[in-house]
Amino acid sequence: CGIVGVLGNHEVAPILVEALKRLEYRGYDSAGIATVNSGTLSRRRAVGKLVNLSDLLVHEPLAGKSGIGHTRWATHGAPTVTNAHPHRAGCVAVVHNGIIENFKDLRAELGAAGIDFETDTDTETVALLCEHYIREGLSPTEAAQKTVGRLHGAFALAFLFEGEDDLMIAARKGSPLAIGHGDSEMFVGSDALALAPFTDQITYLEEGDFAILTRNSLQIFDSKGNLANREKRKIALEA
Ligand code: GLU
Repeated sequence: CGIVGVLGNHEVAPILVEALKRLEYRGYDSAGIATVNSGTLSRRRAVGKLVNLSDLLVHEPLAGKSGIGHTRWATHGAPTVTNAHPHRAGCVAVVHNGIIENFKDLRAELGAAGIDFETDTDTETVALLCEHYIREGLSPTEAAQKTVGRLHGAFALAFLFEGEDDLMIAARKGSPLAIGHGDSEMFVGSDALALAPFTDQITYLEEGDFAILTRNSLQIFDSKGNLANREKRKIALEA
């Protein structure tokens, strides 16, 4: 039940785990992270406490300075490794909090296009749909924007892409999401508390916002698709 994301200048796996620890209070049944390392997208996931994910990362480390992380509170599909986030479809990795209400319709649509499913989750449809649009010729950003436009329900989402070391997409509808500004680094968290050790410069996404992040830029579009000017605040949080 938490999302974090980092476009950083250091190895990101321990940073993601630390940020996720700060979201443990929200409750969860499994956890996972994905990174992009010189273009290569990889992920690690574990059921149970975050320490299980940390242990896995000791044996199977994940390199890279860009990454997303998730603690899951299962709503659709049992708490298994397969159903744990990040979900991956080809070049796309996604973490999601909330519920995609129309996932059955989207699943039927993707199924009719010959696309297979690996999990029982509502979230996997988001990754598959986005990948489908990339295959049709859209850029990762365009594909994510089109995907988010198709979703009904409540969500906070973060996307990471194979081949894109300096790009993350974040979107919010019904679930909070904060963007943290670092020194040529950019962070995402469902709660600014998760980002407190790294930055106190926070931009809160508003309902329906779609954000395009690089290490040195943040562009936010509102629910009508217009470029939005969201305030950056210095917040007082205990790191
Ligand atoms: N509905 C998604 C799932 O069951 C996300 C749950 C969450 O918010 O952690 O996988």
